[in-house]
Amino acid sequence: MGRQIYVIGGGAAGLTAAITAARAGASVTILEHSKKMGQKILATGNGRCNLGNHTLNTDCYHCPDPSFVEVVLTQWGTSDTLDFFTKLGIYVKDREGYLYPYSDQASSVRDVLLMEAAHRKVKLKNDCLIEKLEYDGNRWKVHTPGWTYQGESVILATGSPASNISGADNSGYELIHSLGHKVRKVLPALVPLKCKGVSTGKWAGLRMEGKVTLLVDGKSEGEELGEIQMTDYGLSGIPVFQLSGPAVRALDQGKKVQLLVDLLPRLTQQELEQLMDVRRRDCPYKSEQELYVGLLPDKLIPLLPKGQEIIWLKNLLLTVTGSKSANAAQVCSGGVDVSQVNPYTMESELWKGLYFAGEVLDVDGICGGYNLHWAWATGTIAGTCCSGSKGRSL
Ligand SMILES: Cc1cc2nc3c(=O)[nH]c(=O)nc-3n(C[C@H](O)[C@H](O)[C@H](O)COP(=O)(O)OP(=O)(O)OC[C@H]3O[C@@H](n4cnc5c(N)ncnc54)[C@H](O)[C@@H]3O)c2cc1C
Repeated sequence: MGRQIYVIGGGAAGLTAAITAARAGASVTILEHSKKMGQKILATGNGRCNLGNHTLNTDCYHCPDPSFVEVVLTQWGTSDTLDFFTKLGIYVKDREGYLYPYSDQASSVRDVLLMEAAHRKVKLKNDCLIEKLEYDGNRWKVHTPGWTYQGESVILATGSPASNISGADNSGYELIHSLGHKVRKVLPALVPLKCKGVSTGKWAGLRMEGKVTLLVDGKSEGEELGEIQMTDYGLSGIPVFQLSGPAVRALDQGKKVQLLVDLLPRLTQQELEQLMDVRRRDCPYKSEQELYVGLLPDKLIPLLPKGQEIIWLKNLLLTVTGSKSANAAQVCSGGVDVSQVNPYTMESELWKGLYFAGEVLDVDGICGGYNLHWAWATGTIAGTCCSGSKGRSL
């Protein structure tokens, strides 16, 4: 009889950890407090599941200690994700480095994980409320209203409160806190930002290519190029998401946060001035605003300040006043302080037999498959190590 292992949370990381531990001979049970496992996976990649990326390095993650991330990525890279899913039956499609199941259905990813878990005799318990975790020096006790489960190891894979998917909440952090682990404040990341500095009500619904620079107390903290979505509260879209984690954290620290937006990044200011001169010459019958028809979406043109059009388009400065809530976020920053976790094993430095996996840790990835990569990677490491199997690269 193998070791008895309890995985708390049946999401991407928990399912991976359970499969890995069961493959290594452990007897594994997943305790999940919502009605179904793997619900968040279904929402990923707009329902298509961006499960990894060919470009992978520590710059793709935010963590107070990048060396923690590095140790994990050296143990589990993109080829490991590809191997793992190919063996589970997913034919992986590569879209400019972004990896998706060929079916273009996130449900395929969730389904193959559940199929493998069933094949490996992992017990799945939904609707399971965890009241308390205890270690008696020898065995872990997981208290639920009807039963106390006992085993050698517990893997905490409770994710974050990001999204409005049932089960995504802070209850995992409460359990972790009760064990004396430090948890860095959990804040939304990969989330739309609320801004002032423009009549947002008037530009709502627009989508434009743009370059966004994040300014914290006037200093550039990164820039992103891509499709920006204008909303009635501010800005959304991938470039804004990529900058949102550090923006929200800086706001929380009372810093001044601004976005400098370039709405015509393909033209320098000088090229734009020259272009407008040519247009004025070619079409002298047009008003200044009419000259922008064909260059800008109609809805944006009335917002251009008279005489300042080009400066505005190239250097639109918005003040960030907040973000949408965790309900609207794809991930959260913050979580279990990584200085109390061994990156080679995912085991707690405070408790023997207690492991962590996935987004519950204080590591959040940028958009592009990095958060799921983190879930597969840490799930595998935790599952391998808690079952006593050293694994290939551990
Ligand atoms: C809309 C959306 C789109 C996304 N798209 C992508 C994408 O394309 N690519 C990508 O890489 N990432 C994406 N992400 C992020 C990615 O889904 C998460 O980072 C990843 O699912 C985290 O995995 P996890 O197992 O750590 O947590 P989760 O998947 O959240 O799983 C945690 C599980 O634990 C359960 N749980 C929580 N607390 C308890 C408790 N106290 N007791 C028992 N069970 C508990 C939860 O119900 C849940 O089932 C997206 C996220 C969202 C919301």
